[in-house]
Amino acid sequence: MRGNERDVVIIGGGHNGLVCAFYLARAGLRVTLLERRAVVGGAAVTEEFHPGFRNSTASYTVSLLQPKIIADLKLYEHGLRIVERRMANFLPLPDGRYLAVGEGRTKEQVAKFSARDAGRLDSYHQRLGAVSDLVRELMLETPPHMTGPGLLASLPELFKAGKLARRLGALDLAAQRDLLALLGRSAGDYLDDWFESDPIKAVYGFDGIVGNYASPYMAGSGYVLLHHLLGEVNGKRGAWGHAIGGMGAITQAMAKACAAQGVEVRLAAPVREVLVEKGRASGVVCENGETVRARAIISNLNPKLLFDKLVDPAVLPEDFRARMASYRMGSGTFRMNVALSELPRFACLAQAGDHLTAGIIIAPSLGYMDRAYHTARDKGWSENPVVEMLIPSTLDDTLAPQGAHVSSLFCQHVAPVLPDGASWNDHREEVADRMIATVDNYAPGFAASIIARQVFTPLDLERVFGLTSGDIMHGRLELDQLFAARPVLGHGNYRMPVPGLYLCGAGSHPGGGVTGAPGHNAAREVLKDLGR
Ligand SMILES: Cc1cc2nc3c(=O)[nH]c(=O)nc-3n(C[C@H](O)[C@H](O)[C@H](O)COP(=O)(O)OP(=O)(O)OC[C@H]3O[C@@H](n4cnc5c(N)ncnc54)[C@H](O)[C@@H]3O)c2cc1C
Repeated sequence: MRGNERDVVIIGGGHNGLVCAFYLARAGLRVTLLERRAVVGGAAVTEEFHPGFRNSTASYTVSLLQPKIIADLKLYEHGLRIVERRMANFLPLPDGRYLAVGEGRTKEQVAKFSARDAGRLDSYHQRLGAVSDLVRELMLETPPHMTGPGLLASLPELFKAGKLARRLGALDLAAQRDLLALLGRSAGDYLDDWFESDPIKAVYGFDGIVGNYASPYMAGSGYVLLHHLLGEVNGKRGAWGHAIGGMGAITQAMAKACAAQGVEVRLAAPVREVLVEKGRASGVVCENGETVRARAIISNLNPKLLFDKLVDPAVLPEDFRARMASYRMGSGTFRMNVALSELPRFACLAQAGDHLTAGIIIAPSLGYMDRAYHTARDKGWSENPVVEMLIPSTLDDTLAPQGAHVSSLFCQHVAPVLPDGASWNDHREEVADRMIATVDNYAPGFAASIIARQVFTPLDLERVFGLTSGDIMHGRLELDQLFAARPVLGHGNYRMPVPGLYLCGAGSHPGGGVTGAPGHNAAREVLKDLGR
């Protein structure tokens, strides 16, 4: 290597780009990371949205971040602190009742609605736990690549596939059947088999529609439910927690880990093009015209954005191009941050308490979620939308002035693209008002307590974060876009069809969420190819 030439250029400084950069630099490679925005972190950032009020701008709660990555990058030593919610979930109901879910209280709470359901909770968790343990083990592995040329090249992949088959075989038959059901069926069908009362099905079923523009009764939502159970907080499996300082605290700690390994991070440095010479990715051209050359080019962008905008279609195999054209994106997400003069008071539980630290789900039943989805397909959004609300300032006093609060509204089931040619630019405020009114129905006075708000329609998520169609997962988590087929069968091992070009973002295995796993796995494959 001579002069300013780099070993690796990473396009995009989302958390996966940072994780990938860290591992490569730790192995001794010269790494340059180019981020379009003025801040690293991608969808995992904390920003001030009103004077004195900061919040996780997009992604807002932590669970999936891999313990190995936390340890390798020494994120705690770089200042990260993750705390548990004092209650996992809170579901206010229109009839004035509520369901509180969390350690030590779920059974008693579910019994208010169904003694039978309360009695089934332990075996539900035990059975789901067996399946999620297996899938969790695969997160830091590269899926088998069974399309290599010749038997010799295929041997390691056959071994990998064999290992996977052995793991599956080690599950008891009930767990194998559960896995099949979750992969093939809907979250709603799965939960209907277990429970009879609506509230517990709504709390658990919400995981099946998070970032998933689909009815909970659509096939595929079973896997999305499972995906949201693959994490942990401080060793508690399936739990969700809060990073003190917001999600940006995670990526700022990652940036420090990168700096300690000598990664060169350039901000406000958008890349215009991946340079391909003699059939190989050899560098990138930045918007300012500068060319940065390297032996490996790694993209943290969602695959559609990468191949639509940065790679010359002429260098791609025709079938790959066609598959990417039909790669499915669009998570139906509408995201708001609000500054509050006071804490909300829920009609069903007015006094402040642990429930204000919970993921507060406004969607009382699976049927409600199903209707919200179908209405959105028809009209763009529903008058009765699904809203998850968090008030992170109840756990973290660094986000708002004393006595005031910030809240994240994570709203599901708006159309990624509005019907009949309508534009999100014309409906942003109207839909934001609807989301606030929905919360206000359950917590009267909420609307009046709002000092300021920040609103992201799917179009805004695309503009600000580069999330095509506002897809928070970099592509739908559906069977033909998962594991060895993420983003496309034959490229599940992070290697793209142009030699020297790799994917390290959530559009590769194991998909979306703040996991760090795609970045970790991609780095391992790049190191192999560069002979490290
Ligand atoms: C609204 C919302 C809520 C979410 N909530 C949660 C949650 O609570 N918990 C959770 O675990 N996950 C959540 N997610 C999902 C999770 O945040 C993402 O799946 C994850 O952050 C993706 O990380 P990434 O590093 O792969 O990509 P990204 O974070 O998308 O990073 C890609 C980076 O590439 C940059 N970039 C784009 N184009 C260029 C270019 N031309 N040149 C240079 N750089 C470029 C972008 O600016 C960005 O920084 C949420 C996402 C959103 C949007």
